[in-house]
Amino acid sequence: MSDGQSIVVVSAHAADFVWRAGGAIALYAAAGYRVRILCLSFGERGESQGAWAEPDMTTARVKEIRRAESTRAAGILGADVRFFDSGDYPLRPTDATIDAMVEELKTLQPACILTHSRLDPYNFDHPVAHTVTLQARVYAQAMGHPAPGPVLGAPPVFLFEPHQPEQCGFVPQVLLDVTPVWERKLEAMRSMQAQGHLVDYYSDLGKRRGSQAVRNGGRKGIRVAEAFERVYPLVVEGLL
Ligand SMILES: [Zn+2]
Repeated sequence: MSDGQSIVVVSAHAADFVWRAGGAIALYAAAGYRVRILCLSFGERGESQGAWAEPDMTTARVKEIRRAESTRAAGILGADVRFFDSGDYPLRPTDATIDAMVEELKTLQPACILTHSRLDPYNFDHPVAHTVTLQARVYAQAMGHPAPGPVLGAPPVFLFEPHQPEQCGFVPQVLLDVTPVWERKLEAMRSMQAQGHLVDYYSDLGKRRGSQAVRNGGRKGIRVAEAFERVYPLVVEGLL
């Protein structure tokens, strides 16, 4: 139990955090961390295929559906979520959005930050989320930034596994065992009905990464895992 500690997850769209980090979120929430999700957009244009398949759909209605789904999924995982409604396709965070993210980081002082990969030729909003997250982290470390709260230390940044990692230059450097919270992630994924087709895909991926976790020296009991990539060096006292 880590009373008072938190982690921050920056999600470009309403469901990204569920597929890519739902296990990590559930794991840390269960351990007593506050998990704060900063959701930059609802993904109303690019990631709401199921909702748009319904007749007479409107952008406003899609946003409502996605907000409800995302809020429900965050609740299942044990997290709270703040929506910025910065649009998608393209995602356009403003200076005010970044300032608000800086304030979140300075207020929460998270133990780590999770967000998208640096590249994604299938979805240009994801690298935008990556960039503003790193910007907000660096600005929050600056003594002169006016956002309230103490300056931020150096929380590690972990990048989500993108949908097609090879094309995104993603290297799975970190495999996190999410076996204990898998049922919770599954329930959260199933609640995202506008993208229900992804549940099987991310279930299979979790098993594959779990098998690799065992192969890389993890416990034999690992069944499912999530992969992440680090941005900054891991600081250690020794190599063994
Ligand atoms: Zn997305």
